[in-house]
Parts: sequence; structure tokens; C-alpha cells
Amino acid sequence: MTIIGAGVVGATTALSLAERGLTVTVLDRHRQAAAETSHANGGGVTPGHAEPWNSPGIGKRLLSGSGAGEPFRIHAHALPGLVGWGLRFLWQSKASRYYANARHNTRLAVYSGQCLKRLRERHALAYHQYTDGSLELYFSRSELEHALKLRRQIDDPGVEIRVIDVDEVVAMEPALVPVAGRMAGAMLLPLHESGDACAFSAEMLRCAQQLGANIRLGAEIQRIEQRQGRVVGVRLQNDELLDADAVVVAAGCNSPALVRPLGLRLPIYPVKGYSATLELEQLELAPTIPLLDLEHRIVTARFGKRLRMAGLADFDGYNRSIRPDRIELLLESACALLPRLAEEIRSGRAEPWAGLRPMTPKGPPMLGPTRVPGLYLNTGHGSMGWTQAAGSAEVLADLLAEKAPAIDLAPYRP
Ligand SMILES: Cc1cc2nc3c(=O)[nH]c(=O)nc-3n(C[C@H](O)[C@H](O)[C@H](O)COP(=O)(O)OP(=O)(O)OC[C@H]3O[C@@H](n4cnc5c(N)ncnc54)[C@H](O)[C@@H]3O)c2cc1C
Repeated sequence: MTIIGAGVVGATTALSLAERGLTVTVLDRHRQAAAETSHANGGGVTPGHAEPWNSPGIGKRLLSGSGAGEPFRIHAHALPGLVGWGLRFLWQSKASRYYANARHNTRLAVYSGQCLKRLRERHALAYHQYTDGSLELYFSRSELEHALKLRRQIDDPGVEIRVIDVDEVVAMEPALVPVAGRMAGAMLLPLHESGDACAFSAEMLRCAQQLGANIRLGAEIQRIEQRQGRVVGVRLQNDELLDADAVVVAAGCNSPALVRPLGLRLPIYPVKGYSATLELEQLELAPTIPLLDLEHRIVTARFGKRLRMAGLADFDGYNRSIRPDRIELLLESACALLPRLAEEIRSGRAEPWAGLRPMTPKGPPMLGPTRVPGLYLNTGHGSMGWTQAAGSAEVLADLLAEKAPAIDLAPYRP
């Protein structure tokens, strides 16, 4: 079995397959694991926040606030390529469809959280994991109530939420003392975690390799080879042919380009996001609990001495450039949330990064067999790839090992 992609999704799939005793080769065009979208994401493993972005009314919200200084930005040059996907994104925002999609995304994310815990029990993993929950901060009572109503509609039994008052918030996270006066309250999600998805991906490859997986980094796939309608292998850029009885496409935003020659059109749009990672000098001023701040549209996570700040959504096609004005907006949002750290955040030391979220118009990813025999997908995880990686990997490995997956696959079928 061959996996295309050693991002967090492909690397975790490699380990799940190897654990089942299957022969697996994982290929990636970069010389290290997780060099694309999984490289410097927000770090949150957040099943309680897995709802898609297109909640009812998204059309109006995008029209009224998707400019230069806004968290959402639609670039004019990207419009022609966005129309088809965008209409489907809006179509899926109807309440009945949205809540169904939100439940499917949450179900997979909750299952994934359980799989991640079991992975840690089976393997000694080090990826700066933090496993004591996260805080979702609200600066207006009505926003907090709106968010609670949404969660109640999704109502997954695996999501635990506790509403806590501001005193409890600052007792848990003293870095928030300066903004406590403005805060309305928070949700504590005790099962949430955080960790460095890039380090985790490398750990997945290490463990898979120990179990016999063949890891080939720096190997770019030119195309997937077919014979008599069946997938038979992959052709590398250097023209080498690698035989395979099954190919799993876990190539993030490049998945559509890889499968298009086989007659498959995947509805994945690359939604760009940004992060900045700061090597902290004043550790005691920085938050340790992963934070999600919906007012400033920013998430933070701590990886040892580093603070990751991430957010924003640019519809900018496949343009991967790190736009300075967007990084500035991200950093200013971080300063507004963490004023005591403002000097450090503005010091110019934070490392900027941009990545493309492989987003489907519905929200849930595409998992499982395609109509091309031997071709499987594990892609389209959008803003939830790190949260859903372990569960998606288990589902796919179960399928390939001819075992029934633990969750119903119907909502994720390509
Ligand atoms: C700013 C930002 C913040 C985010 N925050 C979070 C978060 O807090 N929590 C969360 O759950 N998710 C988050 N996400 C989303 C998450 O990062 C993605 O869903 C996830 O990284 C997707 O992983 P992947 O393995 O599918 O794709 P990728 O990481 O992009 O991996 C795909 C791999 O395929 C390889 N590849 C592609 N084509 C070829 C080819 N032809 N030959 C060989 N190799 C190929 C690429 O080199 C790449 O390594 C965030 C994303 C962004 C941008």
C-alpha cells in the first residue's frame, strides 16, 4: 500500500496501517514530514469546536466583513476559481445541512481524540502535547449564548463543555488577567488538547518505520498509474514506477490535481491561514492553556518555550505567499488578547508562516474508497486535519485491513 503525503494525515495513516501488519510505503515531495499545511498550524486538537465555518448567515457575514483588515479576506484575483466551490459552500450553510455536517465533523473529531489517546498509550510520543483542555473565550454574553446554542444543536455525547466565569478563567490562565474586565466568560473543554502537529507527524513516521513501513521523503509523485481501470502504482518525477495494490491520497490541497487525470473531481479549496511562532523570553507572561478567541479570531498554543498564534482565512487561490499585512493583523490580534506580551509579540522575532487548509464545501473530509478500484482518499480535512488525523487514519486502516470501521463511514464517502 502506498500513501501519498506525509502531512499529519498521511503520516498517521502510515502508522495505523503498519500497526495492522500491512506493507506500507509513504511518499512525500519534501525532505521532511509535514512541510506543508501541517507544518505550523494552530496546534489545537479540538473536537468540541469541529463545526464547519459556513454556519447559517455566512453569506451576509462574508459580504459585510471580508476585507483587508478582516479575519476573512477574498482576493479579487481568486474569484473566478472560487465561484463553483463558493456556491456549494453557501448551499451547505442552510441550517438542516449545516447541522448535519457539523455533527459528522464532530463525530469524527471525537473518535479521533479517543484514537489519539490510545496512540499515546501504545507509543512513547513527544510532540509538546498539552492534554488538560482548552478555553474558548467570549467577550460578549450574546456571543457566548449563541455559541452554546450551536453546540447544543450539534449535541455530540463525546463533547464535554463547562461554562466558567471570568474569575475561574483567570485562576486557570493568569495570562488573561489584563483582559478579564472585558470578558463575558468562557467555555472550558476538558477533553481538548494541543501539540505540535509537525513534531507529531515526524513521530508517526518514526513509529511506522519501526514497524516496517518504508518512508521515502523527497519523492514527488508525477501521476497515479492505472491498468485496465485499476490503480497499479505511482510514477515519480524521476520516472521511477513504484507498484502498489492500493494508493491512499493524503496530499492535502494537492489531492485534486493528483486524482483529476483518473476522472475524479474533488471539491477542495485551499483556504489560506497564517501563524506566527514566538520563542518566548518571558515564559511566565504567556498562556499555557490553548486559547480560542472568537472575537479576535485567533488561537494560541504553547509548545514548551514557544508560543504559536494562528488564524485568518484568505481566499487567495494556491498563492502561498506570506502577506505582511495579514501577519501584522494576526500579531495585533494576539497583542489585544495578551497585552502583557505585546512588546515581545511586536519585537519582530515571531516566525511567520502561511498554509493552505484543504477545505471541502460541506466541512467533513473525504475518506475511503473511490470509484477507481485500488484508489482511496484521506483528504479534505480543512481546518480540522490535526484534530481528525488519528481517527481518519484508523478508519482508513480498518477499511484496508477489511475490518468494519468504528464509525459509520457514509457521511465521509468521497
Ligand atoms: C493557520 C492554520 C491553522 C490551523 N489550525 C488547526 C488547528 O488548530 N487544529 C486542527 O485540527 N487543524 C488546524 N489546521 C488545519 C490542519 O493544519 C490541516 O487540516 C492539516 O494540516 C491537513 O493535513 P494533510 O496531511 O491533509 O495535508 P498536508 O499537511 O498539506 O500534507 C500533504 C502532503 O502531501 C504532500 N504531497 C502533495 N502532493 C504530492 C506529490 N505530488 N508528491 C509527493 N507528495 C505530495 C505534500 O508535500 C504534503 O506534505 C490549521 C490550518 C492552518 C492553515
